[in-house]
Amino acid sequence: MFIEINQVNKTYHTGDVVFQALTDVDFTLERKEIGVILGPSGSGKSTLLNVIGGVDSADSGTVKIGSKVITGMNSKELTLYRRASVGFIFQFYNLIPNLTVEENVEVATNISAHPMKVDDILRAVGLTDKKKRFPRELSGGQQQRVSIARAVAKNPELLLCDEPTGALDYKTSKDILALLEKINKTLGTTILIITHNNAISGIADRVVRIRSGEITESWINEEKIPAE
Ligand code: ADP
Ligand code: ADP
Repeated sequence: MFIEINQVNKTYHTGDVVFQALTDVDFTLERKEIGVILGPSGSGKSTLLNVIGGVDSADSGTVKIGSKVITGMNSKELTLYRRASVGFIFQFYNLIPNLTVEENVEVATNISAHPMKVDDILRAVGLTDKKKRFPRELSGGQQQRVSIARAVAKNPELLLCDEPTGALDYKTSKDILALLEKINKTLGTTILIITHNNAISGIADRVVRIRSGEITESWINEEKIPAE
């Protein structure tokens, strides 16, 4: 297994109040698979994604990504893990507004040991003609393409996507999912998507449902439904 999560627990402490965000979570995903974590708002999806991405730490349990056990890593080791191995995609793109499309992607290649060529990535996501534009000059779907380009620029083993189509219309969402599938196929990137949208589970190899911090259901899609 590429992602192996075993009995992960996570609490948040606000003053005297303790909130259990994840309870005994188990999850696995093979290398080069697409995984989807389905759940309503507040169910713990982002917490789980942050633990997998090394942005936040679990209270107990183990998270293994490839050969690395990231639970127990110190913050310096986690930073190195994130830089080398993980790309992030967000609902609202998180692009740098005063940099062009090309420059937004370059920022990511600059901190990578094995970056892809910016022109190649922009061609792959269909944005060559927009490379001198600023994010505000692009549609939502185009901005998400930039953010996908930025995330894959360092050729990460793992792409973590937080509601990647949450701000997009139906047609644009399908295009973005098709692009993620293309990346998965051509680069072999393992992709994990968190979403409240059941329809997205169609592109997944493995799906889990989370509710109030607990996995309530998990299944393998024998026949995936391509986005296109
Ligand atoms: P989802 O991504 O499914 O919407 P989250 O993982 O963001 O869920 O949140 C799960 C629960 O944990 C929610 O009830 C949320 O209010 C709580 N929570 C998330 N982050 C914090 C935090 N930093 N401090 C306290 N509670 C938090
Ligand atoms: P979509 O339906 O994909 O969201 P839009 O209708 O928002 O697309 O945009 C259509 C075209 O107009 C896109 O190619 C985009 O580049 C361009 N565009 C959108 N907003 C702006 C803007 N503020 N300035 C310049 N061009 C824009």
